[in-house]
Amino acid sequence: MSSSAQIGVTGLAVMGRNLARNFARNGFTVAVHNRTAAKARALVDEFGDEGEFVYTETAKDFVAALERPRRLVVMVKAGEPTDAVIKEFAPLLEPGDMIVDGGNAHFADTRRRERELRELGIHFVGTGVSGGEEGALNGPSIMPGGSAESYAALGPMLEKISAKAADGSPCTAHIGPDGAGHFVKMVHNGIEYADMQLIAEAYQLLREVAGYSPAEIADIFRTWNRGRLDSYLIEITAEVLAHVDAATGKPFVDVVADRAEQKGTGRWTVQIALDLGVPVSGIAEAVFARSVSGHTELRAASRDLAGPVAEPLSKEAAAAFADRVEQALYASKIVSYTQGFHEIAAGSAEYGWDIDLGAVASIWRGGCIIRAAFLDRIRAAYDARADLPSLLADEGFAREIGAAQDDWRAVLVAATQQGVPAPGFAAALAYYDALRAERLPAALTQGQRDYFGAHTYRRTDREGSFHTLWGGDR
Ligand code: NAP
Repeated sequence: MSSSAQIGVTGLAVMGRNLARNFARNGFTVAVHNRTAAKARALVDEFGDEGEFVYTETAKDFVAALERPRRLVVMVKAGEPTDAVIKEFAPLLEPGDMIVDGGNAHFADTRRRERELRELGIHFVGTGVSGGEEGALNGPSIMPGGSAESYAALGPMLEKISAKAADGSPCTAHIGPDGAGHFVKMVHNGIEYADMQLIAEAYQLLREVAGYSPAEIADIFRTWNRGRLDSYLIEITAEVLAHVDAATGKPFVDVVADRAEQKGTGRWTVQIALDLGVPVSGIAEAVFARSVSGHTELRAASRDLAGPVAEPLSKEAAAAFADRVEQALYASKIVSYTQGFHEIAAGSAEYGWDIDLGAVASIWRGGCIIRAAFLDRIRAAYDARADLPSLLADEGFAREIGAAQDDWRAVLVAATQQGVPAPGFAAALAYYDALRAERLPAALTQGQRDYFGAHTYRRTDREGSFHTLWGGDR
């Protein structure tokens, strides 16, 4: 077999197959391989006319088909299958070759794999790929970690197959060493959870407080999508809300069971944030909201708990309320991104990744699920000041969130009075108010800690660590 393929893809389920086709459509010769070889054969049979594919049956054939240094993309189920594939291929590779893991790996696994393969001289490039199967085919947002040397050999190919932002720039960039790419992909997914939860809360408030129908709310979202909330998620939300179930004639959203599922990247984002001591309350509320929804028995047992009597709004009041919800959604979105970028900054500092936060915002502008006009603003904020301590410290965001805060509070008052849960909006506002506060009750917490555990406290007027001798018998 001649070593003619510039890149190889192993693992040809939806993601791998579409990524392989994307490489081929962009003029690269692609070796394809799958544990169950029939899938590789089927890919070449079905899509062979889209570009140059090299069908390979065994791992040995696959490796032999690749030009050196080899670029081998692994798109298998994350977890043990990835380790199994590495174990199978690593002995067949040579120093300088690259294994690109495009699965949704935990960044700690990526760090381990990178370390182990580095000892063999093999570059392990943990790479976040966002955009689902459609993105994989037509241009995903790609977040590669690994060595700078591997990016030099791989980057131009990734830049070619990635999505392009409105200004034409590719939605990929070298994120940083070892697990940096998968870490950033993890936080991307956490922010995606928060974005989805905030949109869901806006829908629920428009429905239950303002009394709008799903079709009317779809129109409201379409209007919002022409403004500063312009984003893929708002766009598809309008589509979902406008969709009518063919079997019953009811709004689609009313026939779907209200139990949200999750695969785990949102949970990882929160777990790691807890380890790093970064408050990502908006993302955490989004993860918890999904788990609350899934507790069917708990919900059934609580259905008769007392709540307020809802008072319908007049038509004019409903329209005014919808405008306020837009403000609350936008303000809460600023907070979710503030928290997500804080986590990336903290991860970068902890692991020495030196991640360019502006570049991260830039490569999320196309291809991925959270793509939005808003990301241009975030990039501009970091371009203006790379060491921005928080997005809320950016003058533009501070002004906008300040202008939104009255409406944001009014929406939460209405939600509370009408008994509609809005944990994402509420957590975002609590974070905003905590950061603004001149004094936090943490001073009291420190007093309590010193009282029962002699944990000591610091003072506002003197340096040093203090302990008070509380009561007689302590
Ligand atoms: P998947 O269902 O996660 O994985 C199926 C693929 O893994 C098949 O090719 C399967 O081979 C292979 N595989 C499983 N166990 C294996 C083992 N022990 N040894 C070798 N191969 C093994 O496929 P997917 O949905 O296309 O996702 C691929 C990766 O991309 C995953 O890590 C996923 O988390 C990530 N991802 C998915 C999306 C998405 O929207 N679906 C988006 C971004 C990232 P056989 O055909 O032989 O069973």
